[in-house]
Amino acid sequence: MESSGEDTICAIATPMGEGGVGIVRVSGDQAIAIASNIVQPRNKTSLLRLPSHRVYLSDILFDRPPKTKKSDTFFLDEALVIVMKGPRSYTGEDVVEIQTHGGPLILQSTCEALVRHGARMGEPGEFTKRAFLNGRLDLIQAEAVLDTIKATTASSLRSAQGQLRGTLTQEVGRLREELIQALAHLEASMDFVEEDISFIQTDQLAHIFQETQSTLQRLIDTFEEGRIIREGIKAAIIGRPNVGKSSLLNALLKMDRAMVSPVPGTTRDVIEETVNVGGLQMRLVDTAGLRHTEDLLEEEGMRRTRKALEETDLVLLLIDGSVGLTDEDRSLLQEHAKDRCLIVINKSDLPPKVESQEIFELIPLGRNTSQADQEKLPMVEVPFVRISARNEIGLDVLKDTIRSRFLKSIFEPGQTPMVTRLRHKAALSRARDSILQAQSSIEAGMEGECIALDMRGALDSLGEITGAVSTEDILDRIFRDFCIGK
Ligand code: GDP
Repeated sequence: MESSGEDTICAIATPMGEGGVGIVRVSGDQAIAIASNIVQPRNKTSLLRLPSHRVYLSDILFDRPPKTKKSDTFFLDEALVIVMKGPRSYTGEDVVEIQTHGGPLILQSTCEALVRHGARMGEPGEFTKRAFLNGRLDLIQAEAVLDTIKATTASSLRSAQGQLRGTLTQEVGRLREELIQALAHLEASMDFVEEDISFIQTDQLAHIFQETQSTLQRLIDTFEEGRIIREGIKAAIIGRPNVGKSSLLNALLKMDRAMVSPVPGTTRDVIEETVNVGGLQMRLVDTAGLRHTEDLLEEEGMRRTRKALEETDLVLLLIDGSVGLTDEDRSLLQEHAKDRCLIVINKSDLPPKVESQEIFELIPLGRNTSQADQEKLPMVEVPFVRISARNEIGLDVLKDTIRSRFLKSIFEPGQTPMVTRLRHKAALSRARDSILQAQSSIEAGMEGECIALDMRGALDSLGEITGAVSTEDILDRIFRDFCIGK
């Protein structure tokens, strides 16, 4: 079957390295023909004649390139081969999946053999891009495929799966459908203006705009939580030397060893440690750098700290509760105890020397809070938590406090439409602005054409989210984050 008229691609779909099984995928209108050159089913029938959607035990043949000394054919491996004729396949095209043993040489040689017979190595995300271009997935779902692969916590996985199943797609589709209908009526009224026939009343339009606008706003409002569920909380532990920063980090890591820890960050010196906080991923950034800053009051130390903290969602400011507050503590409290900060009083196993009142007096809440901070997080509800990092006391309370700060809503990730990507939020905001514009056009008694223009703007923005309206540029940006073979 032929759907996109594209060439046939192949790629290793499993991670590089040794494994029980490794998979090579082939997709395109020549997929079965090309694969049939190297796949010899044990039942001696050609791959071309075998029924689709079955698994065949086969030998994989590898013929040496003619330019090497010997030009012979040998068995590369034994494999399970699945033929999936389009459109009932992931990409919508004919697909062959070859499951060999998971050795890098076997997988690479299989691809090499396929390329020799006319396939091309796939680009990152090219299988999913083809699935989108052939109408198997919309863009939200394509992005959700990536999120599913990258999910490291139960919440992020549930949220990605919800999007893959279409929770957001349906909501956006419904909004588009309503607007398209209203626009059709409005345009009909404009066409028949001479005959004085009205297909839609202004108050009906106003009502539709009001509903659409509030649904859009509701979706946009889910973004902060959605983003946290998808990306995790970016956090940093700060405090003067010896308050127990390393001890806290180690205790959190020991308690809930994360799946991907430590991972190198985007720049060379930045290291991220990842811990699971009640199903949310918490990425502790640049902790090494901050821990090694001996004197945070020094200008360079402060500068580095500020820079690292600028992009965090949460700052855990650690205080040693077994000694009184020092000048350095006070200064850190005054500078950092804003909305994004959670004060953690450590060494609670020892007699307390820091009174709650002392801290309350120092917290500049409400004074230094910038607009950006306010949007990032609501007001601090629990200003501090007492723990003992060394004795692992109070860590559950600390985690609960962090979790409930970021997850306010009662709905389950994956069940309700939720916006998890900035791309979607930006497009929804543009759609909302167009609708607001259309509302004011109605109020100002503008021509139908003006209102229709804004409605088309809103429709285009909504279409960008699902890919109903897309450009090569948008597609490139989305699919370049994918791995090869997906
Ligand atoms: P950092 O310089 O802030 O990273 O502090 P460390 O984690 O290296 O801890 C400094 C010292 O405080 C070490 O001797 C730790 O064993 C000790 N410490 C850390 N947490 C606790 C705690 O909860 N209770 C007590 N008594 N000592 C602690």
